Amino acid sequence: AKSAGGNRYERADAEADARAITRHGLTTALPAALDRGEFFIEYQPLVHLGDGTVHGAEALVRWCHPQHGVLGPDRFIPLAEHTGLIVPLGRWVLQEAVRQARYWEHLHADGGPLRINVNLSPTQLHHPGLVTDIVDVLERSGLAPGALCLEVTESALIGADEDLLKPLRQLAEMGVDIALDDFGTGYSNLANLRRLPVSVLKLDRSFTRGMQQHPADPVDLKIVEGIVSLAHSLELAVTVEGVETAAQADQLRALGCDTAQGWYYARPGAPDRIHRLVLADAV
Ligand code: C2E
Ligand code: CA
Ligand code: CA
Ligand code: CA
Repeated sequence: AKSAGGNRYERADAEADARAITRHGLTTALPAALDRGEFFIEYQPLVHLGDGTVHGAEALVRWCHPQHGVLGPDRFIPLAEHTGLIVPLGRWVLQEAVRQARYWEHLHADGGPLRINVNLSPTQLHHPGLVTDIVDVLERSGLAPGALCLEVTESALIGADEDLLKPLRQLAEMGVDIALDDFGTGYSNLANLRRLPVSVLKLDRSFTRGMQQHPADPVDLKIVEGIVSLAHSLELAVTVEGVETAAQADQLRALGCDTAQGWYYARPGAPDRIHRLVLADAV
């Protein structure tokens, strides 16, 4: 008779096989999905911690797959990265998000520009057409470079040489903001920050999580306090992600963080939710 352990392994194997098959299927379906328009973007607001008004929004891509339903980016971005499809997909996200931001600009006429944050993956950073693509998208839309913020993960820039930093430097010189995403997870040398053309630190969700408890984890508080003061002394703005409760928002405000994003304010959603928030601020 088979042991329970054997069955468990067989089941684990079967699950691993199923995952591999799905992964393979998704990978081969990606190019056609882009042609067929199966991707869409949800927007999650970024708010000023001081007064709760909308600062901008982050564009988060989703895939409406005909068989599997809506898939989150964690399911397909790594595959797109691996096959290089991330370059045309990323270009589409940028185009779409910038077009949307241009529309919000009309709604927000008196409130100053609304920022649009777009994620860039490592493969896009290495692609030689990156700067031309971005300049092109901005010029055709008429959006000011200062309204665009590109989010690059801290880990993508660890050990980055000048060749990799050059396009980011060029974009920063044009006025595009560069944010260091998932900051605090990559063990980067803090002194290294001065070398990077970034203007925003985006504190990883793992820090905000420590503030959910009552009382908040004192070590987390100290770390965030230290990061905020370092960031401000380097003239970097600090955004926090994953804010889920009013208590977290209060703590982060008290620690001097500038902007925040999270379910407490709004989950990622359709662009018209941002229209409504912007219009609500305007009155
Ligand atoms: P990220 O850039 O760190 O984005 C934040 C993630 O946290 C999003 O997950 C968002 O839905 C989620 N989130 C926001 N607020 C909260 C909260 O209060 N609590 C919790 N638990 N989660 C929250 P999502 O949309 O699944 O995106 C996952 C990752 O996929 C992103 O992480 C980003 O790295 C990547 N991604 C998304 N869109 C794109 C894209 O267009 N291009 C590239 N290259 N990567 C993308
Ligand atoms: Ca991001
Ligand atoms: Ca992040
Ligand atoms: Ca993340």
